[in-house]
Amino acid sequence: MAERTNRKGSPRNALRVYRYRGTISIMSIVPDFAVYACDVGSTFQNRFAWARIASSEPEQIEVCSDITVLARSIKDDFRARRSVALGFESPLFLPVPKSVKDLCHERQGEGNRSCFASTGAYVATLGLHEAAWILREIHTHGIGFTVARKDWPPRGTDPILFCWEAFVSGKAKARCKLHPRERSPRCDQCKRADQHDAATAVRAFATGALECAVTSESRISLIGAAAIWSKWIDPLAAIAALTDPVLVIKPALPAPVGSFAPVRGHE
Ligand SMILES: [Zn+2]
Repeated sequence: MAERTNRKGSPRNALRVYRYRGTISIMSIVPDFAVYACDVGSTFQNRFAWARIASSEPEQIEVCSDITVLARSIKDDFRARRSVALGFESPLFLPVPKSVKDLCHERQGEGNRSCFASTGAYVATLGLHEAAWILREIHTHGIGFTVARKDWPPRGTDPILFCWEAFVSGKAKARCKLHPRERSPRCDQCKRADQHDAATAVRAFATGALECAVTSESRISLIGAAAIWSKWIDPLAAIAALTDPVLVIKPALPAPVGSFAPVRGHE
């Protein structure tokens, strides 16, 4: 096996390529991990959904609407020493521009889906609320929290929690034929559309190039605030956590129907 290195001689982890029996295997050299995406919505109205894909079974996407099953599943991954990439379909940071004329404007890359428009602002609040709850539930000593792009895919033996933002909009968004404009709390098709969006996000993260689709020059990080609050981050590192950039993944198309299935026991 030959490992490629960059100019400084350190392993180029994201692009590490090993030749093994004449074939190229990337999955085999990265430690075991699981990718999750949450479609942020009211749990009270049954509008929350999540999806999971594991590096050991990359062709299988599980979907579910139960937030407690999500927390349990992530804790099981940590117990199995798996790193976790956890995505939220809600703004994980807000821009803080230098100039007053740039206040209240969308983040670069959001298009007409500004985090300050009514839907964006609603989902940012709900996302912070649910992220804080989830992070507190899954808090595990010895596992490091990060949003730094350089930390994913994971390497080494210590599992990490990598948080990222999913931006599922436009053509990538699943539709309920009965409620094409606004999803309804009591509609099963809408519930499936929420799960479909989570599957689309998790699939885009697991199969894509992990290029950041939404940015800002300077920011306040909502996921950083949730991580400090839930004791994932030492208060001494708090300022960095509140200002670090977050990776945003924007799928172009929805995940193919049939590429995801309900978590067993939670159909
Ligand atoms: Zn519907």
